[in-house]
Amino acid sequence: MKIIDPTQTQANPGNPDYFTGPVTLRRMAATEPPTNVKMFRVEFAAGARTHWHTHGGVQVLVVLEGRCRFQHVGGPVEEAGVGTVIHIPAGEKHWHGAPPDAPMVHLAVNIDAETDWLEAVTQEQYRG
Ligand code: MN
Repeated sequence: MKIIDPTQTQANPGNPDYFTGPVTLRRMAATEPPTNVKMFRVEFAAGARTHWHTHGGVQVLVVLEGRCRFQHVGGPVEEAGVGTVIHIPAGEKHWHGAPPDAPMVHLAVNIDAETDWLEAVTQEQYRG
């Protein structure tokens, strides 16, 4: 058994090429091939979000704190509360982050899913 306490993990700032606003990533798990699962605790300041992106495999988001704001291309801007699980299929263009007025934390579980980063989410897109 391996226990990972997020307060004992390294806090890595989100790369500004891939995120808008202050974001902190903490690696919570990474398995060995052929089971390729990576888990990150991602902490977004109010208004912070990812750029548009796709994953090469499934990504599952679990909202841990606050409300997660997210959108897939062609869909509405939505929000989900603590405990909600968001499944993102391989190849679906999307973004996720905090609402404008409060921080948000989610667990990101990437299953054999590398990330292809695209353009930033504009203020108009973010507002919905
Ligand atoms: Mn994603």
